[in-house]
Amino acid sequence: MDLARKLAILADAAKYDASCASSGAKRSNGGMGKAKGLGDTDGVGICHSYTPDGRCVSLLKLLLTNWCVYDCRFCVNRVTSDTPRARFTVDEVVFLTIEFYKRNYIEGLFLSSGIIQSPDYTMEQLAEVARRLRQDEQFFGYVHLKAVPGASEELLEKAGRYADRMSANVELPTDADLKKLAPEKSMRAVDLTMSALRDRHAEAKQERKKSRSAPRFMPAGQSTQMVVGASASTDRDILTTASNLYAGQRLKRVYYSAYSPVLGADGDLPAMTPPLIREHRLYQADWLVRFYGFDAGELTTADAPDLSLEHDPKLSWALRHPAFFPVDVNTAPKRDLLRVPGFGTRTVGRILKLRKRRRVREADLRAMRTPMNRAGPFIRVPGGEVIREKPELLVQRFKPSDQQMRLFTRRLTVDQLEQTA
Ligand code: SF4
Repeated sequence: MDLARKLAILADAAKYDASCASSGAKRSNGGMGKAKGLGDTDGVGICHSYTPDGRCVSLLKLLLTNWCVYDCRFCVNRVTSDTPRARFTVDEVVFLTIEFYKRNYIEGLFLSSGIIQSPDYTMEQLAEVARRLRQDEQFFGYVHLKAVPGASEELLEKAGRYADRMSANVELPTDADLKKLAPEKSMRAVDLTMSALRDRHAEAKQERKKSRSAPRFMPAGQSTQMVVGASASTDRDILTTASNLYAGQRLKRVYYSAYSPVLGADGDLPAMTPPLIREHRLYQADWLVRFYGFDAGELTTADAPDLSLEHDPKLSWALRHPAFFPVDVNTAPKRDLLRVPGFGTRTVGRILKLRKRRRVREADLRAMRTPMNRAGPFIRVPGGEVIREKPELLVQRFKPSDQQMRLFTRRLTVDQLEQTA
């Protein structure tokens, strides 16, 4: 099979993995002295871009192979799937990365793989690609490698030495889901892999504090992905697992990827992809947990374990807790201000800064471009009309208007979704 055909198959097969945003990576040309390497990167957003359906493709995003000995029922690459197969050699991935980089098509590599023979064998090949890029080609662009759950610590160590970020995919939110839909996988194996990466990452950071010449290890941390809508698990299950991973494994990001039905899949898997707005709501809720002080358990209830598709999670929480409002903009602590719909972290920062000098007035909030139609009913501020409505009227007020469905819808990018939280 020629390289172009392999590329077509293996780039297409990689599109289902959402865990590949590269922000946060910083890499100079590797302490090579005067010798110049390829691919200095800096700060944030170095290589984000998304296909029209929202998948990140700015990195050269490939599978080493879509042959896989596992049989995850939601996956097009499972062993029983009748999909065209291909496999790159290590040399071929290195060649493509360097050639694409030199032509300015990409700024880095995202490399995942089906399981070839065993987790160790697969991890060894992935790590070797990264080693070759760094050592033989002097390539210092962004490299994100898949961490294969069950691979040995030595191989994870080798991979993390050359990769910027790694991701062991948890895939599904509960062990019961994994048993049913991905029988060769287990939460325990994913957990052990993540723990090994977390500990080594922390150790390397400490070593580098003592000596700047100590080797780096996975400097952009680790992330994971969960497929949404393949099982009956609720948003509450998904958010609980995600927040446990943030706290326990210190993940940088959890990515949520809507299940895409695959040809020939079992009849008991959903026939349709879940509404894209569900993925959107999960990203918003994830954002609230990470930056707004919400606990995952607060964003849903035992009676309604899925996020509202009508309202964003912060507004939903506010509508369920009318007694919490109005929040006094001039006296409330930061954690309460962060709960006001329409107040982002930047607005709250500005309010706190201004409060040190004088009282904040409604005109100040407007000057900060606060959406007063959202925030107004939930705050008390001098000069502002305090709109106190009964909870049921407030719900009515924020009810979305009926809309004719569009024939063609545009899918938002992950970063655009986050901005709407
Ligand atoms: S391990 Fe499972 S999810 Fe990953 S490629 Fe194989 S079948 Fe697909």
